[in-house]
Amino acid sequence: MTAFIKKMLIGINQLILLLAVMVGFLISVTLLYLTELQQFEELDRLGNERLELYASTVQSAHKRFDYLPFIVSDNNLVKALLQGQELGDQVNRKLEEWQTESNAAVLYLMDRQGVVRASSNWRMPDSFIGNDYHFRPYFQDAIKGGQGRFFAVGVTTGRPGLFLSGPVMAEGEVQGVAVVKIDMTQLEMDWASGGENVWVADRDGVIFLASNPEWKYKSLRPLDELTFDRLKSEKKYSTNIISPLAVFDRSATPQGKEIITLSGTQASHGFTGGSQSYMLHNRSIKGLDWTLYYLTSLQDLSESKRNVVLISTLVAMLVALLGFFLASRIQSRQLLEKRVEMRTRELNETNLRLRDEINERIKTEEQLRQTHEELIQAEKLAALGQMSAGLVHEINQPLSAMQTFLASTRLLLNRDDKSSVEENLDDIEAMVRRMNSIVSHLKSFASKSKGQTTRVALDEVVENALLLMRPRLKRDSVTLEWQPPSDAVCVYGDEIKLEQIMINLIRNALDAMQYQEQERKLGISVLTEDKKVTVQITDTGPGIMDADLPRVFDPFFTTKEPGQGLGLGLSVSFGIAKEFGGNIEAENRTEGGAVFRLSLDAAEAA
Ligand code: ADP
Repeated sequence: MTAFIKKMLIGINQLILLLAVMVGFLISVTLLYLTELQQFEELDRLGNERLELYASTVQSAHKRFDYLPFIVSDNNLVKALLQGQELGDQVNRKLEEWQTESNAAVLYLMDRQGVVRASSNWRMPDSFIGNDYHFRPYFQDAIKGGQGRFFAVGVTTGRPGLFLSGPVMAEGEVQGVAVVKIDMTQLEMDWASGGENVWVADRDGVIFLASNPEWKYKSLRPLDELTFDRLKSEKKYSTNIISPLAVFDRSATPQGKEIITLSGTQASHGFTGGSQSYMLHNRSIKGLDWTLYYLTSLQDLSESKRNVVLISTLVAMLVALLGFFLASRIQSRQLLEKRVEMRTRELNETNLRLRDEINERIKTEEQLRQTHEELIQAEKLAALGQMSAGLVHEINQPLSAMQTFLASTRLLLNRDDKSSVEENLDDIEAMVRRMNSIVSHLKSFASKSKGQTTRVALDEVVENALLLMRPRLKRDSVTLEWQPPSDAVCVYGDEIKLEQIMINLIRNALDAMQYQEQERKLGISVLTEDKKVTVQITDTGPGIMDADLPRVFDPFFTTKEPGQGLGLGLSVSFGIAKEFGGNIEAENRTEGGAVFRLSLDAAEAA
């Protein structure tokens, strides 16, 4: 693998990794935003539900007492008292009775000057009787004939409460004002024990009811001087000083819902230190100039935000890991492809090399075959050369015989002995035929073989070889024991080459016997056994020395005098036999002399 490809792969890997990290980051940011959005929506829904619930409790808290000023003002005793009769005691008891029944905080009666004339708490040391409350707006409203509703901190008790008032009418005139004070601290306690963050603010934005005391008498906005003075004169919040709420931050949800962050101790109960954010829900309370606030703590949100961040980080890491895995997969795949490609190229190269080698081998084999053929031919010509003396003699003899015959024929013609002339001519013809057969066979034997494998009759091969060896047999006075097979025995091969083997074997046999005195016998026989044909050639020579037996087929092995043999005859013969799937074996005969066996596969009869 080249350095360039490696570098490129690393580049691709880094790109995929970077992409994976970016995708992971995007997923986590989107997830975070979507979760936040969904959670804000959920919190908004829950907050609004709560707001409605608490609004109805606040409303029902004062509705329950709405009727009381009317009950009081409608009472004749009350009216009589206000018209100057000495009924204070009776009215006090009556008011006390109603108070107990209704569970209101206090019920009392004021005269036209705003001085309390009778009160349900007449027995208490801090009874309202004799107190002047003319400055209270609820008195001002009722003395004008209207209904008064006013929340204030009690000037005497210091307890906050809702004051409901109504005029007491007699003889078409307002005689005084009946007032019921409702204690709302129970609501606060309920909210606080429920772990809720609720507050109620008046139209000036001053919180006067709150689940957390820290929020009480705090204004949502800084108050202007005029408002400040008015509150003071109404003694609305008694001696409590109104200060702005410690708002650390104001923001909004993506849906536009207000979020405030309160700092320090003004954060909700149970929360220690730091600042705390709330989603703000508000609605006005019907019949009162109040606004109810429900605060949804966003602490859970930030906690789940943390979870989301954690999950998103995990997701991002997972995606990055996936990317890494993918990148390494791609890399290993590319590596594999490269390796396969390289291996294929190598294989192709090897194939080409192999083909070249095979071609080279075929060429070499062809050359070897040619050399082999040339060697066979050369050996054959050498043998022919050695045989030539005998062959010349073989042809010379009939030639001189023919000369004699021709002379005698001429004499016979002169004598006009026609029948004897006829006989002579027949003899001459026979001699010419014989010479012709030798010469034509010599010619074909000497020619280079055509290299064609055909069906060859073995007995004919032996006959042809004997035709050329006959002069030698005669010269050496060798007795021939040739038993041709009764039926033609055929093998596959080249006629001339097989004849060359036969000539070589016969010549060797004759050479072995040529210097001995005892009878020289050459035996040739053809045996057929198990689809194998064996030509056996025996002689009565000295045989082969044991040490030479394994070497007689080696090229250039000869024991003959220089000029007598090249040592190639048996080696070439062996090669020819192998060429046609056959074999030649040599052995010494027990009765003396050597035996050579040429064996070949028999060809099926034609
Ligand atoms: P060459 O005839 O030229 O020596 P050959 O290959 O034909 O070569 O023979 C090799 C040797 O094998 C001969 O020199 C001879 O020693 C031995 N040999 C072959 N035929 C016979 C045989 N019939 N009897 C004894 N020795 C033989």
